[in-house]
Amino acid sequence: MWGSAGFLIGIVLGSLVKALADRSLSNKSFWGRSYCLRCRHTLAVYDLFPILSYVLLRGKCRYCKNRISIEYLIVEAVVGVLIGFLFWQEFSSLQSSVFSLQLISNFKFLIFIFDLLFKTFFIVILAILFITDIKRMLIPDRIIKPAILIGTISLLVITAYKVGYLYYYLAQTPIGRQLLPPSSGYFQRHALMVVQPFLLSLLMGLLIGGFFWGLIIITRGKGMGGGDVKLGAFIGIMLGFPQALIALVLAFFTGAIFGVALIIAGKKHFGQTIPFGPFLVLGSLITLFWGNQIIDWYLKLGTFIP
Ligand SMILES: [Zn+2]
Repeated sequence: MWGSAGFLIGIVLGSLVKALADRSLSNKSFWGRSYCLRCRHTLAVYDLFPILSYVLLRGKCRYCKNRISIEYLIVEAVVGVLIGFLFWQEFSSLQSSVFSLQLISNFKFLIFIFDLLFKTFFIVILAILFITDIKRMLIPDRIIKPAILIGTISLLVITAYKVGYLYYYLAQTPIGRQLLPPSSGYFQRHALMVVQPFLLSLLMGLLIGGFFWGLIIITRGKGMGGGDVKLGAFIGIMLGFPQALIALVLAFFTGAIFGVALIIAGKKHFGQTIPFGPFLVLGSLITLFWGNQIIDWYLKLGTFIP
């Protein structure tokens, strides 16, 4: 049920993804109504239902009957499936960790909702950049810069909220007050544990962005671009440690396989560039959905090696 709700939200976000990707490639304003690219007729609200409008209009403009690109349908469906899967996964793990939604505290529920919105936002930005990088080998500043800012501020706010809540929670009871400074170091220790992942996220952003920047300098701008630096920083902040590293490894791994396959198929020759952004997006999505399983598997692998 939550999966279907996520799918419906996802197809609406999918049409937003397509619009933002197109508009950032054509340097158009993000604001303003959508219109038919051929007859310039402003689209009505009933022309803008994701998937449904496309199917009902049989892929043609209502006003001039010009064919509408199938890309709209594909992007809406793919983002729908991704957000649907995210909702299904998140709500299943919520239900298995607590017996029912009634039992969960307001605090935990708020953190859960934040996490869900944070991951949804991540998927939307990744989808936009996937399209722009594949089409034009471009990661638009108009998307990636605000995305880095929003991601960082969201993490800062939620971290401050968690620390504040811990203090408020302890201050409510006489026993709790004993754990606050100056009586005890308990509060500081636990506050540090909450702040640590946030600092690691910032560090991951700096390290991965810096790593790509280093690659650009070494290769003199062949292969990587400034967009990859910003995308790498964004992924580092959003996934944190160690997930961001897994995404990076997966990106290089899938990118290398794809590159070799293209050379074997004779579509490209060695040294020709292919955009790296789509592989970073792919690696990030795999990590977002299965990162914990990959970490478990990796740790288990370690125990077999004496
Ligand atoms: Zn038209």
